[in-house]
Amino acid sequence: MNVTRRELEHWDRHHVWHAFTQMQEYEPLLIERGEGCWLVDVDGNRYLDGSASMWCNVHGHRHPRLDAALRAQAGKVAHTTNLGLSNSTTVEFARRLCELTPPGLDRVFFSDDGSTAVEAALKMAFQFWRQLETPRPEKTRFVAIAEAYHGDTLGAVGVGGVDRFTAMFAPLTFEPIRVPPPGRADADGRLVPLAESLAELDRLLSIYGSEIAALVMEPIVQMAGGVIVHPAGYLKSVREITRRHEVLLILDEVAVGFGRTGTMFACQQEEVVPDFLCLAKGLTAGYLPMAATITHRCIWDAFLGSHTDQRAFYHGHTYGGNPLAAAVGLASLDLFRDDLVLAALPAKIDRLARSTARLATLEHVGPVRQRGLVAGIELVADKATGRPYPWQEQQGRRACAAARGHGALLRPLGDVVVIMPPLAITEDEIDRLVTAAEAGIRVATG
Ligand SMILES: *Cc1c(COP(=O)(O)O)cnc(C)c1O
Repeated sequence: MNVTRRELEHWDRHHVWHAFTQMQEYEPLLIERGEGCWLVDVDGNRYLDGSASMWCNVHGHRHPRLDAALRAQAGKVAHTTNLGLSNSTTVEFARRLCELTPPGLDRVFFSDDGSTAVEAALKMAFQFWRQLETPRPEKTRFVAIAEAYHGDTLGAVGVGGVDRFTAMFAPLTFEPIRVPPPGRADADGRLVPLAESLAELDRLLSIYGSEIAALVMEPIVQMAGGVIVHPAGYLKSVREITRRHEVLLILDEVAVGFGRTGTMFACQQEEVVPDFLCLAKGLTAGYLPMAATITHRCIWDAFLGSHTDQRAFYHGHTYGGNPLAAAVGLASLDLFRDDLVLAALPAKIDRLARSTARLATLEHVGPVRQRGLVAGIELVADKATGRPYPWQEQQGRRACAAARGHGALLRPLGDVVVIMPPLAITEDEIDRLVTAAEAGIRVATG
């Protein structure tokens, strides 16, 4: 069948309901192939993948070793269920993951995307307290950080706090206890000091701790909230406070896991061991949907018993532990080791900082926030006062759309232009990406 580009665009507009997209205003851009950190459209135009294909690509597209691992697994079997059955590739992947995760985190529950990794953790935490030797069934509530994002299934939406994503569904979701993210301005525009936000958390847990199953948070950087970078020490203190009040800690590293902040996992920046570590996006280096909820023996043990005790975790996803995904995940871990991916990061992180520093001088660029290999460039109507643009103007979206003409694919978060390339990006490519972002920002705000 010989399909024309016009036909494809027409079908795209009429049959494909794109995620987080107003279809009435959607303009098709059809990607045909990838090459390292570049994506190529059906007309042969090349774009740097500035959002790592929605924050998940790690080693670049069509990496020969990842492709080979995928092909080799396809030559064995594409999928077998992990409901009461196993697969050698998936077992090996679980074992390798446990060698890398913080000490004690060695029980892996596989699902298929970030939202389900968080859902599984929430449900496990809830069930854990009911199945303790001395059950604590009153521990049913969750604490979440304001402006958090944990995915789009209803449980994950319930603990999310990015209003433009969650407000619509509020009547359908449960209500967590929300604490403000540290280092952010409060309603009166006052920057809340770290000690104060920790004291507030401590106070809340003193009052409600006996009703709380777990606190869930994105460690170090709240990505979808607009690249909100937590002050140093916050995570470590949250761990200490939650432990003191017997509240489990769920760390959602779906976006920050696999090197994004400079260490393999973000929690390693502050030597924190959570009770649940949720991984997805980079888990298969951006190749296939797969997620993992990793916990420790104390949680696992609470679910053991005879089948007549009915203590098992009755939760699962059809494609959980998929061997094709596991094979690529394994090959990705090999690449981290053999190509010294983490050791190469400091130079790239530094280059991103120097490159984006230039943008901070632009008339309509407010704060530029960076941690590791991710930067968020906030566009503002008035630099002096920090007054935002009216959201209806969609300056972030317009800047990213204009950057396409300069060879970069970027995705904004509201009026924050996000630079989040694959870790494999070169320093030259970082400059090109930031230059394209700058061009886009000048067009939109000029
Ligand atoms: C993307 C993301 C999720 C959701 O992952 P999906 O695979 O889209 O379901 C959850 N948490 C964080 C921090 C994310 O960035």
